[in-house]
Amino acid sequence: MENKKELEQITNCALCANMCKHGCPVYLATGNETVTPQKKARLILYEKKAFIEDEKGFFDVMFQCAMCGACKLNCLYDNFDLRDFIQKERNEAFKKGILPDETRKRVETFARFGNPNGERRLIQKGEGEIGYFISCSTYSDQQLLKAVERILAKNGDHVQEFGGGDICCGAPLYYAGDSEGFKKAAGKMKEKIEQRKLQKVIISCPTCIKMMTEIYPEVGVHLDIEFIHITKFLHTLLKEGKITVNKVNATATFHDPCILAKELGITTIPRDIIKMLGFELKEPIYLGKEAHCCGGVPGGRIGDSKLVSKVNAMRINELKETAADVYISACPTCKAVLSDMDMKDIAEVVAEQIIDG
Ligand code: SF4
Ligand code: SF4
Repeated sequence: MENKKELEQITNCALCANMCKHGCPVYLATGNETVTPQKKARLILYEKKAFIEDEKGFFDVMFQCAMCGACKLNCLYDNFDLRDFIQKERNEAFKKGILPDETRKRVETFARFGNPNGERRLIQKGEGEIGYFISCSTYSDQQLLKAVERILAKNGDHVQEFGGGDICCGAPLYYAGDSEGFKKAAGKMKEKIEQRKLQKVIISCPTCIKMMTEIYPEVGVHLDIEFIHITKFLHTLLKEGKITVNKVNATATFHDPCILAKELGITTIPRDIIKMLGFELKEPIYLGKEAHCCGGVPGGRIGDSKLVSKVNAMRINELKETAADVYISACPTCKAVLSDMDMKDIAEVVAEQIIDG
């Protein structure tokens, strides 16, 4: 443990009553006590005291975490985030080469292609001081990309699109514990953004925004540009009448992406958009900052696809309880992971209702 404060923090967590586990999706989906926040803290403490014999088993537990932030949200200590400790252990796992198979494969693909999808296509369209970054997750969803492009075409301001299969914010490397690889990806991203002389960049993926605004500075990469999530952009377009939409007569449920709600604090804006489109909102039991994680992609934040499937199934069941006509989210990864229930991205729903002319 690096310092006395950190030792005190992890000891407090290891000895805590562990009530935050009731918001932890990996615990709720599996019932496995070992993956609760407090047990993870206890394992980290034991590891620091050299009590751990099964190193592979220890690191596996560190990857049985959605890095969703529910434990931080429900923590009884101010300014304590267990994920900081889990992240350091993932960095150790990477250095020692003890990664879950699926995580290792994603890192290898990233090393070859510069993104986790194994693509090599750079998109560059349009010009202007506003950018739309096509994240690797957005590029994987051509339906979403078409919807965004339809909206951008109706918007009066010029927006240049860039990204696609060739560049990635580096989040898969960050969550895999490859801190050096992540730093390089952040540097490449900074170069790609700065060479375009942009004032602000719109992004559909909340994780990209977290990386660029919060995690890049931690590795010494600073970008003096405003990053805005697409929900804020769509909200402004609708409010200012830059796009007009037909009203629908249907019910909708919104799934809050973890990072969008818990970290970027965006929960009412997507709901306002949905209501502006005429939908009646049907809320799930867990919503806003309390919404349970979709599980993310295997090898991404959670290192094991079986665990991802369990977290995923739990969230689908919770959402289906609303019996809404349409299910909407605002993160390309959430949409992909929840595809078993016909999820749409909010940009697709807006694009479907745009009035031409
Ligand atoms: S994360 Fe906070 S609330 Fe949860 S077990 Fe640790 S100290 Fe307790
Ligand atoms: S970040 Fe989420 S999945 Fe990980 S221990 Fe905390 S609540 Fe559980």
